[in-house]
Amino acid sequence: MSVPLSTPGSEEIAEILARAVEEPLSRDDGYRLMRGSEADVSALMGAAAAVRDRGTGRTVTYSRKVFIPLTNLCRDRCGYCTFAKPPSHAAARTMPPEEVLAVAHAGREQGCKEALFSLGEKPEERWAAARDQLRDLGYPSTIAYLAAMGERVHRETGLIPHANCGVLTRDELLALRDVNGSMGLMLESASERLLERGQAHFGCVGKAPETRLQTMATGGALGIAFTTGILVGIGETPEERVDALIAIRELHERSGNIQEVIVQNFRAKPDTRMRGWPEPSVLEMVRTIAVARLILGAEMNLQAPPNLAGGTDETQDVLSLYLAAGINDWGGISPVTKDHINPERAWPEIDALRQVTEGAGFVLRERLCLSPAYVRRPAFVRPRLAARIRAWTDATGLVKGEETRW
Ligand code: SF4
Repeated sequence: MSVPLSTPGSEEIAEILARAVEEPLSRDDGYRLMRGSEADVSALMGAAAAVRDRGTGRTVTYSRKVFIPLTNLCRDRCGYCTFAKPPSHAAARTMPPEEVLAVAHAGREQGCKEALFSLGEKPEERWAAARDQLRDLGYPSTIAYLAAMGERVHRETGLIPHANCGVLTRDELLALRDVNGSMGLMLESASERLLERGQAHFGCVGKAPETRLQTMATGGALGIAFTTGILVGIGETPEERVDALIAIRELHERSGNIQEVIVQNFRAKPDTRMRGWPEPSVLEMVRTIAVARLILGAEMNLQAPPNLAGGTDETQDVLSLYLAAGINDWGGISPVTKDHINPERAWPEIDALRQVTEGAGFVLRERLCLSPAYVRRPAFVRPRLAARIRAWTDATGLVKGEETRW
């Protein structure tokens, strides 16, 4: 629950930070840190960086991936989204199997190891055209098509699929489990308020926070590692950001399967309901990243997407600030395909990312879509993928060498 607070003084902030480096941040202390003054942000970042260093030291990771936008039809209509298209739109499309395989093969040629399947959520529940497409393809549902494509991509290219496809039932999770190294589902926010008329998630049945948390909890019981995260700047209050991070922490305490948390900044895009909304500042992002680190603790992988950072000139500076605020991962970077969710924001070259990471005193290492700690936990490694995962990783769970090929 959000309680408006006055700005805490530097002394109070210092006391909170002294506690936070020793034990996970409480909800109330999280609220206070979100309301701290600008002058206290560098102390906040220092505390967050110290906690990060205790967990993952000076290693920062990324995953070399290829992006497969299986369908951009979706039953939801998020206020900030340019990815989803109605069937009548000229750019609406579902990838046929041969195109999926062609993109996957191109990724393997470039040394990718992850096939990120990112797609609209259950479009057949809303659109007759989606039902017709699935019938023509020979599948009863988008999830069945996704499972079949994941299996083929892994069998024919060796890539390890990571599906990001919205909320799922237990049976749907079971259908996807054996062909996915891990899965992704952004919590985005824990605020039911954002489902109301005029808010970011109005008209989005899949964005109910409880349903999203339940999907990930069920995944935990089935041995599926999930990447989740929050969206910053979609109408939530600073306290609601803390609530979402606490909800993720509590989920992980119960289900033990949250491998990574993304702190992603909202970007206002033309042709969306939220095109006129203010974007979060770099200061807001850095504060939220640091508070996230203090809430989630030393062991959790924390990412901020590098291609959504700043404008072109200042990007390198912003990335350095993200590192100083406690992240230890850059997420998936594609040398082949653009970010279909944010096509106007090019991914940085891996070499450029290495430069900024090393410039800040870290070592950049490649990881798989299944993060290193879960690679070392047999309950989370699917038998069908195990040989490939073992061949690519060392004893720490990281990729053996940047140029590893199969
Ligand atoms: S953000 Fe995801 S769930 Fe929302 S409309 Fe876009 S594709 Fe659908």
